[in-house]
Formats: sequence, structure tokens, C-alpha cells
Amino acid sequence: DRQGKIRNFSIIAHIDHGKSTLADRILELTETVSKRELQAQMLDSMDLERERGITIKLNAIELNYKADDGETYIFHLIDTPGHVDFSYEVSRSLAACEGALLVIDAAQGIEAQTLANTYLALDANLEIIPVINKIDLPSAQPDVVRQEIEDEIGLDASEAVLASAKAGIGIKEILEQIVAKVPAPTGDLEGSLKALIFDSAYDSYRGVILQVRLKEGTVKVGDRIRLMSNGKEFDVTEVGIFNPKTVSRDILMAGDVGYIAASIKTVADTRVGDTITGADNPATEPLEGYKKMNPMVFAGIYPVESNKYNELRDALEKLQLNDASLQFEPETSQALGFGFRCGFLGLLHMDVIQERLEREFNMDLIMTAPSVIYHVITTDGVTHEVANPSEFPDPSYIEDIEEPYVKAQIMVPNDYIGAVMELSQRKRGDFVTMDYLDSNRVNVIYHIPLNEIVFDFFDKLKSSTKGYASFDYEITDYQKSKLLKMDILLNGEKVDALSFIAHKEFAQARGRAIVEKLRKLIPRQMFEVPIQAAVGGKILARADIKALRKNVLAKCYGGDISRKRKLLEKQKAGKKRMKSIGNVEVPQEAFLSVLSMD
Ligand code: GDP
Ligand code: MG
Repeated sequence: DRQGKIRNFSIIAHIDHGKSTLADRILELTETVSKRELQAQMLDSMDLERERGITIKLNAIELNYKADDGETYIFHLIDTPGHVDFSYEVSRSLAACEGALLVIDAAQGIEAQTLANTYLALDANLEIIPVINKIDLPSAQPDVVRQEIEDEIGLDASEAVLASAKAGIGIKEILEQIVAKVPAPTGDLEGSLKALIFDSAYDSYRGVILQVRLKEGTVKVGDRIRLMSNGKEFDVTEVGIFNPKTVSRDILMAGDVGYIAASIKTVADTRVGDTITGADNPATEPLEGYKKMNPMVFAGIYPVESNKYNELRDALEKLQLNDASLQFEPETSQALGFGFRCGFLGLLHMDVIQERLEREFNMDLIMTAPSVIYHVITTDGVTHEVANPSEFPDPSYIEDIEEPYVKAQIMVPNDYIGAVMELSQRKRGDFVTMDYLDSNRVNVIYHIPLNEIVFDFFDKLKSSTKGYASFDYEITDYQKSKLLKMDILLNGEKVDALSFIAHKEFAQARGRAIVEKLRKLIPRQMFEVPIQAAVGGKILARADIKALRKNVLAKCYGGDISRKRKLLEKQKAGKKRMKSIGNVEVPQEAFLSVLSMD
């Protein structure tokens, strides 16, 4: 009975608690990957694992484990996809599992993402196996952490495994607990096919590679499958598992985690969370999909070279396959030309997308400062949702503006409570509560405008708490605020992509800070360039970029040839990420300059 031998599980943890290292140890111990092949952190190898020239994100690996009872078990280790611990990504993976290893650093204890991920696992009805990792550290306090697990999460931690992923301690015990505690999947092998798509990637040879968890029935090469959300049908060309390379198999059955390829060329046809069924004997009801996540932060993304617009759209479509939470639609900017307004789950997500576009798709991009969605109520009583500052109605038509507020949850050692409060207050936050987690740590809750979080809250929090604070937020409501749209003028011309929204009280100071910042960021030109910050028609601040003096240019001639070449190369590299606006060359950093202003 193959199904009875399957164990599907994930590893969840707060960042840096050792999830990837533990996954490596598990691959090693089950000899899935030979020592020679084992590169550190196999599961994080988006860059390294290139098959036939394209990258497939491998995150559902099949392992065979010979247990102490003499039986061989089939493990599917499902890594939480993506670089970062987004709850959305985590919950997708969890829906494909019956169990989860909850890894907690023995020196750090429970942190914000430990809790958030545990709640997701509990929501998905998973069997949770606590693992207290890094017991090799001198500062490890396994007993304290064990108590924390019981007190803060309410899990029985009496059998928590004491482990060191680094030193290879406790790994076998973890595998034995998986066998004993994680239930085998159930699901009718004879029933209609029902497979949940939990991730996908594009391969130029095989088309879309769907990563699936089969809940009912079986699927094999030649079967005709149907995507339940749109009725599209395809013939299966390949099924298989990851080990971590793709390995084709004859058949996948209920309980299995693997991939299906069916020469699907249109990326837009496949949607993460959709159910695949058999065309001949279709299921009547799809599986429960995923909660749709609403983006909270928006920014414009533009190719540096305008002829790369189609390439950028292609890249975004392919990324969306891999990351269903990414949203985008075309937009035009007077300053930047044709591009896309993209929606992200948060700032970290935005960074990851930008990095992936640049690294995996070789794009040179200009990104505008992120914005949240404002509710703008015009004098005719209509409420408009505006996510792009440049689309704000004329101030004379605006009756009221509402902005999103978040519940910000900050966990921090006692010593930094003062710093956290000072910062939160400065960011227009209202104190809600403070709880002691133990004698040394508190959980502080503030009600803060998302707009302030989008600016530089996280960086400031990290620096004012020496990196000790962990931070999580969720949108709670919209509230009326006295907000203004600030325009930036370069050489007398309004640059739409530099507009941003500020609170009335801070407008003057922000305006002054940003023109000063831009003055430093924008290189000197052959002529003087005034930079102005304005609200409506009123100029609040001004700074001037002085014209290049002739003798600065003269320095480039004569002299050391290699130095001159270096200078030219530097200029060329700098050029790549410059955008010419009117006749002023503006570097990428300028568009994000509103993000950090002091
Ligand atoms: P992840 O962010 O949860 O995937 O964490 P990683 O596996 O990348 O580990 C974060 C850091 O902790 C790395 O520097 C690891 O080498 C280190 N680490 C992981 N497990 C252990 C352990 O058992 N003991 C010690 N001392 N360090 C560990
Ligand atoms: Mg990792």
C-alpha cells in the first residue's frame, strides 16, 4: 500500500532559525542527494538549479526513508516557496501537507513569524512537530524554549526534538517522528482526479510545469486534463516528482506531490490554487482553493529602455505564474513612458520581485516609490480608490481623503521599548497595548497609517533596536487624514513619477528634505536645474543643481589613461539606470528617494 507509506510535510520557521540547513541535513541523511552533489541549502537554489537553461523553482522533493520499523517511507518535503516568509506562500504549501516541522532557534525562542506560521499550520489542520534547533550554541536555552512553546502556542512540547541542524544532531529522531506522527494521506485512488496546483514555473521546452498535490484519483501520460477554473483542456505529456531534479514517473496518485506537464504554452491559463481534474470523468466540485490575497502596496515598474516594454510584460507574466500574489496592469507616465503598475503584498515582496526581474530576466528597471490605496472622496460625493499619487484628482475637487491603517505588532526586548514607542509616535501611530511575553520581551501593538510603514518604518525600527525587533502588520481600517499630494518639478516641469502623498503636518519638512536629497542624487548637467516641491500651485521648497563647470570636464582629458577608461566605464554603468526626463538625466535612486528622508 503505497499511499499508507507517504508522509507530506513542510518546514516552518522564523527567518534564520535554520529551516534551510535542516532541509539540507534531511536530504543528506536520506541520501536523496549525495554528499558530492549537496550544495549548501539545496532548497534555496533558485539560482543554482538550472535545468536545460531554465530555472525551475524546486520546492517539493521526494525522499525515501528507511525507518527503524524496517519499512521504507516516501517523504514529500515541501519547502515554502519564495525567498521570504510570506504567509500567503506558506499557506499554499501547507495545503499540500499533512504535517509540519516547526523549527525554533534555541537561543532566540519564539518570534513573530514563528507564531504567524504556526497559526497557518493549525488553520490547515496539520500535525505540528516542534524542533528546537541550534542546541549546539552556548546561548541555547532549550528548556526555556520548550516552556515558551507550551505557554505561547499551546502545543505539547514534551517530545520536542532537541536538534542542531548544523552539527547534525537529532535529525534521525525528526525523521522517526515524521513517520510516527504525520498521518498518511487519504484520498480515493479510483475517484475522479482532483489535483491542487500549488505552484508552477515555465520551461521553454515542456511548457508550464504545474506543481501539484493529488487529493483524489490518479494521473498519467496521455490523460486529458481540465483546469476547473476556466475549462481549458490539455493532454498530459509528462508526470513526475522532484528529487530535487525533475524525475518522470508513470503515474501520480492521490497523496502524491509532484509535477504535471501538458504542453501548456499560455502562462495565463494556469492559476495557483486551481483544481485539475480529468476531462473524461470530471469532478463536480473543485478543491477549496486559496484565499485571494489583496496587494497592499503599489509601485510603477518601467524598463530603462522603452523598447523593452514587451519583454517586461513577458517577464511579469512568467513571474506571476510562480507568484500568484503579484498583480500588474499597464500604466503610462509622462516622465517614464510605458510601464506597469504592480501590486505587492508588502515591501519585502516588492524587493523580491524587483530583484527577480533583474536577476532572472535581465531587466534594467526604474521603480517608483511605493504607494498605498487611498480613498479619495470628491466634492460630488464619489469615493475613488487611488493607488497612484499622479492620479489624484485636483485638490479643489477633493472633499476628504481616507488612508489605510494597520495593526503593527512589534516584538522587542525590554531595553528597546522606549525606542519603539518614540519611533511609532513619530510615524503618527497610536499606542494600543503592550504585553510581556516573558521577563525579557514585550509585544507592542500600535495603530499606524500604512503610508508611514511604506516609507522607512522597517529600516528605522531595525536600526533603533539594533536589529532585535521583529515586526508584522495587517490592515485594519481606513481613517480620514489630512493628506496632500506633493509634486516634484525638475527644471520647471512636473515629474509625475516623483509625486507622493504626505501628511499635512509633515509636508513642508518632507518637501524640503526631498529636494535636498534629489539635489545630491541627480548628477550635474551642462545647465543649472532647479528642483521644486509643490502642493497645488504652491512651491514649498527649492534647491538648485549647479551647472557643470568647464574645468570638471577638462579633467577627463590627458592624464592617466587607465583612470580615464575607468571613469568612462563607470559613467556607462551609471547610464544604464538613468532615465532622461525632459533633458535631465535622473538616476533610479531618485525615484525611491522619498523612502528615506533623514
Ligand atoms: P532559515 O532562514 O530558517 O532557512 O535559516 P538557515 O538554515 O539559512 O540558517 C540561518 C543561520 O543559522 C545560518 O548561518 C546557519 O548556518 C545557522 N544555523 C542553522 N542551524 C544551526 C544550528 O543547528 N546551529 C548553529 N550554531 N547554527 C545553525
Ligand atoms: Mg532559508
